[in-house]
Amino acid sequence: MAKKAILMCTCSGACPSMKDINFFELCERIRLELPHDFLVMHPRLCEENGECLMENLLKNDGTKYYVLACKEEKQRKLLRDGYQKAGVPMNEDTFYPISLSFKNTDQVFDELRKALEEEKEEKLCEALQE
Ligand code: SF4
Repeated sequence: MAKKAILMCTCSGACPSMKDINFFELCERIRLELPHDFLVMHPRLCEENGECLMENLLKNDGTKYYVLACKEEKQRKLLRDGYQKAGVPMNEDTFYPISLSFKNTDQVFDELRKALEEEKEEKLCEALQE
């Protein structure tokens, strides 16, 4: 079965739009309560060090990456090079961006939970149609 990985970018903990998110609490709740294979938290995914992480971490093996970071459209631009360096196409099978902007810990947790459940239901429907 395809893996589900969560990449969380904290924007150095300095972005005012993320001030209501407790990143450590969020990580632990995700780890304990949501179905996924692994979770990685990084302070600046869109900079050289973050791209280096992506180059070494991302795999083109069917893993879907749920990326919790800035706004979805911004992620598409800023994280494109990291995907490219990893040799992973950025598409709906590999990239599920979730914006952290102006949300609190509970809101982000709920949005990710729904995204993971949505995926489970889609897979179930596909299996029933086969
Ligand atoms: S990817 Fe987005 S959230 Fe992460 S450091 Fe860059 S601008 Fe900030």
